[in-house]
Amino acid sequence: MWLGIPASTRAMLLENVYCRHCRVTTIVDFRGSVKRGYVVLEGQCGKCGADVARLID
Ligand SMILES: [Zn+2]
Repeated sequence: MWLGIPASTRAMLLENVYCRHCRVTTIVDFRGSVKRGYVVLEGQCGKCGADVARLID
């Protein structure tokens, strides 16, 4: 599913992840999974390393 998303959209999603410490940040070392029909990216904040997740709907 992730690969079916246009690259430009993927880049936008990766750079618009909410971190509770840094607010909007970039996700790194992420992996994708599917939960309840949605693709969820789980990884670390690119600034502080905290766990972050991004739901793609
Ligand atoms: Zn952070």
